[in-house]
Amino acid sequence: MILVFLGPPGAGKGTQAKLLSKEKGYVHISTGDLLREAVRKQTPLGKKAKEYMDRGELVPDELIIALIEEVFPEHGKVILDGFPRTVAQAKALDEMLKKRGLKVDYVFFFDAPDEVIVERLSGRRVDPETGEVYHVKFNPPPPGKKVVQREDDKPEVVRKRLAVYREQTAPLIDYYERKGILKKLDATKPIEEVYAEIKEVIGNGD
Ligand code: ADP
Ligand code: AMP
Repeated sequence: MILVFLGPPGAGKGTQAKLLSKEKGYVHISTGDLLREAVRKQTPLGKKAKEYMDRGELVPDELIIALIEEVFPEHGKVILDGFPRTVAQAKALDEMLKKRGLKVDYVFFFDAPDEVIVERLSGRRVDPETGEVYHVKFNPPPPGKKVVQREDDKPEVVRKRLAVYREQTAPLIDYYERKGILKKLDATKPIEEVYAEIKEVIGNGD
């Protein structure tokens, strides 16, 4: 089973992907997490990606596609979280999977209006050691836990990321709708309710 989690930044894709990978053994591939790790380790990819990420822009397609080719597992259930983000990435993914005799099974579109997104991103906090994600109001970190705000969750960058999402990523909704594999989720619901909706679509065995 190959799932794509699509939607604006802060819609809850990573939160759901972590729950599903913990409970059901999916391999969780978050291009955002992989890029942040590359930036931290100052790898060649990290050095190239950093300036785009800091500005809230997308990292060039060829870098992202090469990254996915490298990390995509030969076997097993996979969640792609935050990839693809452009039509070119989606086409490259289709080709890569076709060569391996695979295809995307479902694309979950996390639908939420801008006010919800801005509230979620402004309250998002992460544990810099484990990458665990919290929210000051909706999912508070345990008392005493050291958490930080992502640089790109600050208001100026958030505005840019939303504009980039609308221009470059939102066209994928139509791309996957035409393929008949798009499942729209009401991402404004509480974490457990969104999770239940996802499990209903993929079935209990998976
Ligand atoms: P994404 O991976 O789509 O960027 P995250 O999973 O990091 O989004 O979630 C963004 C923020 O919103 C986090 O602080 C997270 O704790 C919080 N959050 C995620 N899902 C929900 C939800 N259903 N209701 C309320 N807050 C949520
Ligand atoms: P995320 O953690 O998914 O919000 O991603 C953080 C940042 O990483 C984005 O703002 C982009 O700069 C970059 N990024 C993550 N995934 C992709 C992708 N599929 N294509 C291009 N850039 C990406």
